[in-house]
Amino acid sequence: MDALRGALAQRLARRVCKVCSTPVDGVPGDEQEARLEKTYGIKQTVRAHGCEACGQTGYRGRCPIIEVAVVTPAIVQLIQSAAGTRELAAAARAAGMRPMRDVAADYVRAGLTTLEEIDRALGESAQAAAPEAAAETETAPHILLVDDDVVIRKTARKLLENQGFVVVEAADGDAALKRLQTDDSVDMMVLDLGLPKLGGREVLRAVRKDAKTAGLPVVVLTGETEERLESQLMDEGADDYINKPIDPKRFVARVKAALRRAAS
Ligand SMILES: [Zn+2]
Repeated sequence: MDALRGALAQRLARRVCKVCSTPVDGVPGDEQEARLEKTYGIKQTVRAHGCEACGQTGYRGRCPIIEVAVVTPAIVQLIQSAAGTRELAAAARAAGMRPMRDVAADYVRAGLTTLEEIDRALGESAQAAAPEAAAETETAPHILLVDDDVVIRKTARKLLENQGFVVVEAADGDAALKRLQTDDSVDMMVLDLGLPKLGGREVLRAVRKDAKTAGLPVVVLTGETEERLESQLMDEGADDYINKPIDPKRFVARVKAALRRAAS
């Protein structure tokens, strides 16, 4: 059973909102869509927008992208002999496993989700994508960084500033909401979940409820890896989430991707 668990991988892609999504006419909507069509080798079939039903996110519900390896005796033997990941993956594929990328592509073909969303969920092309988002725009994006942990704020600030972003900080949820009310220059928020006073989820809820900030991209920082939490966060309007401890490359790529999606 442990071996089987080890051979299962899952990511959650959000499902497009049935109320406001529209079919695609066959022409890529923008450069990013064209790039994703090329990366994944499939055409976009549906586009996400945003309405009241989906909290302006364009998505509601989810499609699990699951990769299950059929654990054959040959695979058990490989696991017992502590074979490398590549060897195991090859054996699993030979036994009929479908890679997550293929499963995700099916969801796009069926019009259940978008290329942007599977790209977010799988995080594949994010790192190779788009040169410097900050350098392209006239003014560098402002990022509100909300975390009660000084060390994490320091680390994240450094990473973001290295990318040319302007960083403002808040140490708790109240301060974050106050900042958003008074500062119009904030382009996105990186939000820790476990905040004192007002928790991260409450902050997210308040941000989505307020017309002024409803469209603000929010990337959530979480220490938990619980899959149910991930889907809850996405339902509540998080644009993405990043597990702590922060992996620098991944963190920067995901922040950039969220900004790029918000701009398109
Ligand atoms: Zn909607």
